[in-house]
Amino acid sequence: MKKETRKAIFLDRDGVINVDTGYVFRWADFEFAPGVVPALKKLTGAGYPLVIITNQSGVARGYYTEQDVKTLTAQMTSYLAAQGVLITATYYCPHHVEGTVALYTRACDCRKPGPALLRQAANEHDLSLADSMMIGDKGSDIEAARAAGVGKAYLIDAKAATPPSPSPQPDGVFKDLSACVDYLLR
Ligand SMILES: [Zn+2]
Repeated sequence: MKKETRKAIFLDRDGVINVDTGYVFRWADFEFAPGVVPALKKLTGAGYPLVIITNQSGVARGYYTEQDVKTLTAQMTSYLAAQGVLITATYYCPHHVEGTVALYTRACDCRKPGPALLRQAANEHDLSLADSMMIGDKGSDIEAARAAGVGKAYLIDAKAATPPSPSPQPDGVFKDLSACVDYLLR
């Protein structure tokens, strides 16, 4: 396939794919949000590369290790593969300016709203950022998408009745991933 022609779906993890109970790092505590697995399966069926972009400041904060992130990613990816969902790649930022682990305590471009992980994913997987979409549950997801030049950015907000106030504004607001995917594949 020609370079940079593939349209990807970039997904935030915590709060979009799994229920965000705060610094989730064990598979035993990883709970898929309702409807997520069938929704991801539809996206795989439609041919979209799926790339997860996630801030994991729990590493910098000393709550868990980078290896924990990798292990959980492998468990999630393999579970989803068995359900017919192909996750092309997962990128995470382990940093935070207020960390307690020196190695990871710094400002960086890879923590969303920084665009670095989106750009890295595009480079490594021949994805067209301008033709791709980001789905997140925070203003920082929308900002990262804009900063990287991702074509569309959608917000997941369970209280979608309340107008969101992230800046910049998303291209659409949905109550969950399933509703967003039904819109994208309409
Ligand atoms: Zn980072």
